[in-house]
Amino acid sequence: MNRYAGIVINSTTAALDRAFTYAVPDKLKNEIQIGSRVTVSFGKGNRKAEGFVIALSEDADVQGEVKEIFSLCDSMPLFTEDDLLLIEKMREMYLCTYVDCIKVIIPSGITKGIREKTVNFLYTGMELSGRYNKEPYISVWNFVMEHEGQYNKNRLSGETNVSLSSLTSMITHGYLIQKEKSIGRWDDRTFASYTKKELNPGQKSIVESILKSEKSTFLIHGVTGSGKTEIYMHLVSEIMQNGESAIILVPEISLTPQMVERFKGRFGNDISVFHSRLSLGERFDEWFRIKEGNVKLAIGARSAIFLPFKNLGMIIIDEEHESSYKSDSDPKYDAREIAGIKSGITGCKVVMGSATPSIESYYKARTGEIKLFTLNKRADGAEMPEINIVDMREELLNNNRSIFSRGLLDGISERLSRNEQVILFLNRRGFSTFVSCRKCGFVYKCSSCDISLTYHSGENRLVCHYCGKSRELDKTCPSCGSKYIKYFGLGTERIESEIKKLFPNARTLRMDFDTTRGKNSHERIYNQFKNHEADILIGTQMVAKGHDFKNVTLVGIIAADLSLNLPDYKSAERTFQLITQVSGRAGRGRKKGTVIVQTYDPDNYSIKYAAKGDYKGFIDEELAIRKHMDYPPFSDILCITMSSEQEDLLIKYIQNVGIILKNNLRNYDKIDMLGPNPCMLSKIKDAYRWQLMLKGDFEPGVAGSIRKMVYDLARDVYNDIRISIDINPSSLL
Ligand code: ADP
Ligand code: ZN
Ligand code: ZN
Repeated sequence: MNRYAGIVINSTTAALDRAFTYAVPDKLKNEIQIGSRVTVSFGKGNRKAEGFVIALSEDADVQGEVKEIFSLCDSMPLFTEDDLLLIEKMREMYLCTYVDCIKVIIPSGITKGIREKTVNFLYTGMELSGRYNKEPYISVWNFVMEHEGQYNKNRLSGETNVSLSSLTSMITHGYLIQKEKSIGRWDDRTFASYTKKELNPGQKSIVESILKSEKSTFLIHGVTGSGKTEIYMHLVSEIMQNGESAIILVPEISLTPQMVERFKGRFGNDISVFHSRLSLGERFDEWFRIKEGNVKLAIGARSAIFLPFKNLGMIIIDEEHESSYKSDSDPKYDAREIAGIKSGITGCKVVMGSATPSIESYYKARTGEIKLFTLNKRADGAEMPEINIVDMREELLNNNRSIFSRGLLDGISERLSRNEQVILFLNRRGFSTFVSCRKCGFVYKCSSCDISLTYHSGENRLVCHYCGKSRELDKTCPSCGSKYIKYFGLGTERIESEIKKLFPNARTLRMDFDTTRGKNSHERIYNQFKNHEADILIGTQMVAKGHDFKNVTLVGIIAADLSLNLPDYKSAERTFQLITQVSGRAGRGRKKGTVIVQTYDPDNYSIKYAAKGDYKGFIDEELAIRKHMDYPPFSDILCITMSSEQEDLLIKYIQNVGIILKNNLRNYDKIDMLGPNPCMLSKIKDAYRWQLMLKGDFEPGVAGSIRKMVYDLARDVYNDIRISIDINPSSLL
């Protein structure tokens, strides 16, 4: 019998991050399990607190009186013993607390007490009579008839302006009924079936070898269009035939309706779709469906890795190189690493795929830790596009001051005359649309963030992309008074307006952060372009993702090197990935595609190798540089970022921490300390930011003790300085 339980209190205080021993009362002896959520009285004041059971034992090694657990909150434990192993591991790896971990593996609604199901109204057909045969009941009745299954109680009340209690009385009298239903973005539609393809020999041998292999982790390096998604689908159906379940992770930005459509078309509607736009209630529903074993397959963004499948057979990670797989809030986990840990605990297989695998994964494949497969050809027989580099400095020497090279302009007119389509891509990374004075060099910056403001011609205003503050543009330079104050560089808006001037008959569409804010706008733009309602699609990162436009034969990359100039050891890798991914959009049909890469840095190795489609060549050179510089994967980087509104206090404090750390690090000759320095983004939302970077070989436990030291030192300034610690952050900005 378990007489004692170890309980972590649901609190964000780092000092409470351990198990406290409580006695299990007799009435709960059979019910309390690992993962149970309970209430206890805690601390000197015996205040009531919520906690999670992480240990159970017959004896307890405590002196004095042991308090009893007060009550059990749910009818089932919220996490399993396997989850607990995962939590312990995450705590070590990501330097975070139990509660941080528990909060990502159970849906956020639960601990806040939101357990409401998404219950929607269905039409009953029962005619209104008596005192209900009048307004507002008639309107409600008609509304539900037209919008059957789409509205829950609160939303229906909001939409019809009828009180909740009136709706309740309509339910009581049988005029309306409610039924549980999820209202995910794509759920109420049916999908054209997406027929299973006969695998080609290359695909087939990969599928067979993964299913047979003794290894647990696999990397498919396959060019865009080589049939990786088809491989995932075949793997998943094998897994499901075995009675096991599967998770497919895709980057949030790729989790488009088309992607979901393809999977639903193959596997029917019994797929759980998990993304950040779900409401708390919807998240809870999906989580619960899976917990109860009613769904065997989920497709989702990063956090779907934690969905509570029993009998998990496989985790698939598409576009594994994407930096969005790493979380930037605590716990700063990496979904690829979580997949690895889960595989170690449950034995499930992990399959990663990409046209441009991350350096880290590829390096693991080289060292034999994971098994690599390669696909060099497109599955549907389409040819790989031809990639041409244009040196923009030469264009300038030849008196071309336009943002488009002559080659690109010729290419566009040729495509327009042949009735084919064009995609123009602009890298959103890099500071592209700042306004500056050509005379004195003044640049508009946000008053709260240390970042240039971006010019939006639509509203004729300057906007901060970090905090959203905006201001008007002056007629003359605020610094020197000259009138040569102009916006500089490029934005998608600017490209669109230039294109309209040069090709007045071409129909254009823009897909970027600003045009895709509405709920279905992304899909609308996609469909318009697919149906050839536009000739030229201009966009940012979003156009690089998974779109299969068969009539696109030219892709122009306007400024390939915008991301190269960021002071980040990953910038070459990112540039290579972007050019390759965007190029993959050209020539997906019967017609051959061409890509034009405009750059000011044509000799840069990442651009050269991307243009040749030479992934291996790039990797060899990049790995050599990383090794020489002792960057990951040859080392780990521990980044300690501190921020505060009080600049003096911050600097004094971080310098002090730096001195103490440096003294302590004398015992570890394999770790170097850099800084403290101001961060690249040295001010965000009025908070100044400074950074300490430790680089080297962290033996087990070392990172944890550094973290503890930093937090212990921080006790006195806890209210004024925020500290964030990240291992191998996806960006050093
Ligand atoms: P990736 O995920 O590698 O980009 P996809 O799986 O999306 O590649 O395949 C690219 C295109 O080729 C799709 O239109 C797909 O339907 C088609 N395709 C994939 N595998 C096959 C196959 N074995 N036979 C015919 N067409 C295929
Ligand atoms: Zn700002
Ligand atoms: Zn000026």
